[in-house]
Amino acid sequence: MSLVHGIMASVNAVYLDHNATTPPVPEAVEAMLEAMALIGANPSSVHGFGREARKRIEAARQQVADLVGASPEGVFFTSGGTEANNTVIEGAERGRVLFTATEHAAVLKTALLKTRSPEIIAVDDQGVIDLAALETLLKAKDEPSLVCVMAANNETGVLQPIAEVAALAHRYGALVHCDAVQAAGKIPVDAVAWGVDYLTLSAHKLGGPQGMGAVIRIGDAPLRGMLTGGGQERGMRAGTENVAGIVGFGVAAQLARERQPEKAARMSQMRDRLEAKLIEIAPQTKIFSGTAPRLPNTSNFTLAGVRSDTQVMALDMEGVAVSAGSACSAGRVEPSHVLDAMGVDPDEAITAIRISLGWNSRDEDVDRFLDVWGSLRGRAETDVKVKEIS
Ligand code: PLP
Repeated sequence: MSLVHGIMASVNAVYLDHNATTPPVPEAVEAMLEAMALIGANPSSVHGFGREARKRIEAARQQVADLVGASPEGVFFTSGGTEANNTVIEGAERGRVLFTATEHAAVLKTALLKTRSPEIIAVDDQGVIDLAALETLLKAKDEPSLVCVMAANNETGVLQPIAEVAALAHRYGALVHCDAVQAAGKIPVDAVAWGVDYLTLSAHKLGGPQGMGAVIRIGDAPLRGMLTGGGQERGMRAGTENVAGIVGFGVAAQLARERQPEKAARMSQMRDRLEAKLIEIAPQTKIFSGTAPRLPNTSNFTLAGVRSDTQVMALDMEGVAVSAGSACSAGRVEPSHVLDAMGVDPDEAITAIRISLGWNSRDEDVDRFLDVWGSLRGRAETDVKVKEIS
């Protein structure tokens, strides 16, 4: 048992926040410890220790490439999904960047703050890209563009039709970037079959360590590296490699690929049972993106009359970790930009929470969540009745 799992088990916690970070799989932790303890050398060194570190990095590059059906020459390791997204958006060197309104901040803010002409692509009420809106934007200007569409949304789990997006964007000469951070390991990801030019990944969403990610470039799509210095990562990303992190990412990627079908089947069964029970407990509960294709592990739903931060805190006090479907900033609860883009009423959006299951989730965890959430719903009902009487 790794330290992480030991800590979680010792506090008898129920962790249902795997889209934020999924705990590293024990095999990745072991491989990282071994890489740190036994190799501990600079992969650019020509001596035997350095060559061993280099060998491990190249093995991991192959494992990460295999996860997404790419070739290892196109894989560049980064410090995470955020750096990978920044690298593509800036490094593709297209002044005009089109992106869906529901992208993660690592795409959204980077496009808005760092590109000359950022433009937002609308989504429908399920959070799925409006392909007609994309075509209208592509037609509007004859300018080299980059289209950024995530494979799966981190808040609702909704899946985007990436192959259709890529085919359409290419018809207008645009390049295509797909943030596959939440999709990899949960659904099959095939960068070549999807027809994208760039794909980005993050290790801590698929059983690897935090602070590790990758840009996957397909073919010879243009890409300028962000960091200058030593010539690491074939000049694309200077700086001594995080050997242990890369090794852990590689092992996690391999296991994520091998275990994906079984894990998806198990998680979707758990998720569907959870959602059926939610409706039983509180029939007016709304499940966002519930009728669209979704990740098997994610559910984002409301509890009428109870703000999401109140729910998250109450659940946390009972040892159940979930995430708010809305953001709390400066003491105010703001509806998430994802639900907002889907046209969800702000009063409803601020009562949304997200459950995300992972490789070590158990039926008992779902039961425990339902117990605590059910009592919250009971309390909310009583509050409403008290208000009505008084
Ligand atoms: N893209 C998506 C869809 C994400 O969910 C996240 C993290 O939540 C990121 C990018 C950023 O990845 P990282 O945490 O590795 O920087």
